Amino acid sequence: MAGTAVRGRLTWQTATVSAVMDETPAVRTLSFEVPDWAGHRAGQHLDIRLTADDGYRAERSYSIASAPGEPVAITVERLDDGEVSPYLTQDVQPGDEIELRGPIGGYFVWDGGSVPLLLLAGGSGVVPLRAMLRHRSRVGSSVPVRLLYSVRSLPDVIYRPELSAEPDGVQVIYTLTRQQPPGWTGYARRVDPAMIGEVAWPTAQAPLAYVCGPTNFVEAVAADLVSLGYPPQRVKTERFGATGAP
Ligand SMILES: Cc1cc2nc3c(=O)[nH]c(=O)nc-3n(C[C@H](O)[C@H](O)[C@H](O)COP(=O)(O)OP(=O)(O)OC[C@H]3O[C@@H](n4cnc5c(N)ncnc54)[C@H](O)[C@@H]3O)c2cc1C
Repeated sequence: MAGTAVRGRLTWQTATVSAVMDETPAVRTLSFEVPDWAGHRAGQHLDIRLTADDGYRAERSYSIASAPGEPVAITVERLDDGEVSPYLTQDVQPGDEIELRGPIGGYFVWDGGSVPLLLLAGGSGVVPLRAMLRHRSRVGSSVPVRLLYSVRSLPDVIYRPELSAEPDGVQVIYTLTRQQPPGWTGYARRVDPAMIGEVAWPTAQAPLAYVCGPTNFVEAVAADLVSLGYPPQRVKTERFGATGAP
């Protein structure tokens, strides 16, 4: 019923943390049991609200890391001087209760389809793209995917074991911007137009691009794609804010 779905998305509710998993030294995935969850689409996000003892409240958005049909999960990168992310990545334990609302967003989503996907992630911007990759696997899609993932170093790669598996038709290309292991032959610089030109699907294949990460990353990459001939409406973007330079 439409009314139920709207109430579910916009109403704060109490979820229970069912599991926590460290992805990297600074990044943790939290899974939730959410009693009144209307289901989500790959690429959507949710809001978390924390309330201090004195009533002070802080709200932040987090992309949903899990595929539709999987338990709701988020993956949070700790910003040491941040207000909310240190708590979510260091203090929260299974069994804790957290207020959240969602799912939110209907634009930066991938429900399936037949055109090639170009996914471009900066740092934790890989989170909603991982939900899309998982959704692709769960529905048995054979759509070809290239993921270009800009990250400081290999140990900073989120979901590394999962991404390394590279299911059929999925190609993961890293650019390690700060530190490369000995013998690294891959990209070792920030994403630039030449790199995008090498990685992007030809426009003749009518690909769909999803770009996610810090605002400056997203804006630069989206502009480069449009310069390459990608129509702006085929370049979907999600900005996480000024959360660092992957
Ligand atoms: C749609 C959406 C989805 C998102 N998904 C994810 C996700 O999947 N994973 C993830 O890790 N993050 C995600 N984010 C980012 C997330 O919402 C938070 O912004 C992030 O966790 C930082 O929150 P914080 O409270 O820890 O930091 P904040 O306290 O908000 O601070 C953020 C940074 O800004 C600086 N800062 C804060 N206030 C000021 C100020 N007044 N002047 C100058 N600098 C300041 C701080 O030093 C810090 O480095 C998403 C954001 C959006 C909008």
